Amino acid sequence: MTHRAPRWKDHETWMCINHIPPVSLPVTATRCWFGACKSTRPEMENRPAPEERIIVRPRAATLLDEGVQLCAWDECDRPARPGSKYCSRKCSNKNARKRFRARASDGDEANEAAA
Ligand SMILES: [Zn+2]
Ligand SMILES: [Zn+2]
Repeated sequence: MTHRAPRWKDHETWMCINHIPPVSLPVTATRCWFGACKSTRPEMENRPAPEERIIVRPRAATLLDEGVQLCAWDECDRPARPGSKYCSRKCSNKNARKRFRARASDGDEANEAAA
């Protein structure tokens, strides 16, 4: 069995990927808990910084705080144009298509892909 190098999962955890499913180990474990496994904790210098785990506050939330009306297309975080629910015609169309798909559950994937 080939030995695969363990890797960091996040600041607190590393993973031994020689097992199925991979085993998550705390940073305090210097080696894999499985006795027969040769994996040791990855280099501490490669350990992800704790900041990477902090969920970045979405720009949308910041805009909302400022009283900006956001685009009604839920995958868009741009502010809506004055007098419109959307930032652009594109988002308006996307939302219309989504509603259409929700109604016609059998959908029309060919047209969707071409659009
Ligand atoms: Zn292991
Ligand atoms: Zn938009």
